[in-house]
Amino acid sequence: MADLRSMDTLVSLAKRRGFVFQSSEIYGGLGSVWDYGPLGVELKRNLTDRWWRSMVQHRDDIEGLESAILMHPRVWEASGHVSGFNDPLVDCKQCKNRFRADDSRLKGTPGEPDAQCPVCGNKGTLTAPRQFNLMFRTFMGPVEDAAAQTYLRPETAQGTYVNVYNVMQAARLKIPFGIAQIGKAFRNEITPGNFIFRTREFEQMEMQFFVKPGDDEEWFAHWREARMQWHQDLGIRAEKLRFHEHCPDELAHYAKQAEDIQYEFPFGWQEFEGIHNRTDFDLSRHQEYSGKRMEYIDAESKERFIPYVVETALGVGRLLLVALVDAYQEEDVEGEKRVVLKLHPSVAPIKAGIFPLVKKDGMPEIAQRIHADLQKRFRVFYDDGGSIGRRYRRQDEAGTPFGLTVDGQTLEDQTVTVRDRDTLRQERVATDQLIGYLAERVVG
Ligand SMILES: [Zn+2]
Repeated sequence: MADLRSMDTLVSLAKRRGFVFQSSEIYGGLGSVWDYGPLGVELKRNLTDRWWRSMVQHRDDIEGLESAILMHPRVWEASGHVSGFNDPLVDCKQCKNRFRADDSRLKGTPGEPDAQCPVCGNKGTLTAPRQFNLMFRTFMGPVEDAAAQTYLRPETAQGTYVNVYNVMQAARLKIPFGIAQIGKAFRNEITPGNFIFRTREFEQMEMQFFVKPGDDEEWFAHWREARMQWHQDLGIRAEKLRFHEHCPDELAHYAKQAEDIQYEFPFGWQEFEGIHNRTDFDLSRHQEYSGKRMEYIDAESKERFIPYVVETALGVGRLLLVALVDAYQEEDVEGEKRVVLKLHPSVAPIKAGIFPLVKKDGMPEIAQRIHADLQKRFRVFYDDGGSIGRRYRRQDEAGTPFGLTVDGQTLEDQTVTVRDRDTLRQERVATDQLIGYLAERVVG
């Protein structure tokens, strides 16, 4: 058994099997923008559904929200993104490459003759660092002037903060409570890359948990553990996961405490979820900039305070990449290489492949009837093309946990062979028990 060694292998599998395509590929592609294909959208939807169920459906203290991508431009002044969301950048005048000023490959002092470009190797061609805002700017209405300027949101969290009391009152919540949101956000990253790991357009699953000041550290500890457990419950190998605590100089301007959950990708340990204690920074700033009170009033004690926020922020694309990388296995089965995605059955794009062993003796008709039955409940796939071994392999690569084969014995006793993707064990299951069999194993 072997893990994924190179990202190129995964990028090529993802394209071939329809998980992820490069955006605008026929035009040469668009930098670090990716499209999800048929299997990719199913996997992505299953991952976001699983997160939503655990955050919203299974709890009484968290409600959902979907705020718009476009927001009042003052939001981004209040949040600090207009002034603080800048990266100092360095350009090479020779090769036109652009680097973060903190890029460890830069030698010498950019702007001075001794500085050397890490790409073309020229000396003295690097500009002094200059500020660059990571937000995508756009204009509302027909006139493109400063008054019409707004931004594509760089995070979903602010849409939650400005709605906190709308949600609280509508859902009759009391502190502590949370608001969960899944949505697109945009950052004009300077060094995107590593496939879908860092992209300029991305999707977030964020939950903002509003607590009484003083209870924030306890809730931070709670969510830190809960989020790590969630990834392990998804089947991600524990030895590939770790925490990374932000030291004071890494902390964002709004954060009191922050920990990343990192995964060991083929390109190294990288963050894919963050747990942040954002204190009362955001709500205080919105109170200041909007002129509206953002205080919570405790019904019993009449105490007034601006709630503290503990945030869990997970990148959908990054989680999908973690799921794919962790699931990828190459195995030797009877002298042949088998590529298999051992995805958790609850998030696998297709739950079962349905195969007639041969295209005769009424087997295709029975298999199609089973397919039609199961299709009402699960995403399943009918395949009668090629040898049964090849059909199994195709589903292994797609991460399909079960293969159901209609064979000679089916004609006698109305059972099918059920093959387990991971153990390769086979068992007989009665055709009228298949819905229950799958429901028990793929609903998570
Ligand atoms: Zn250069």
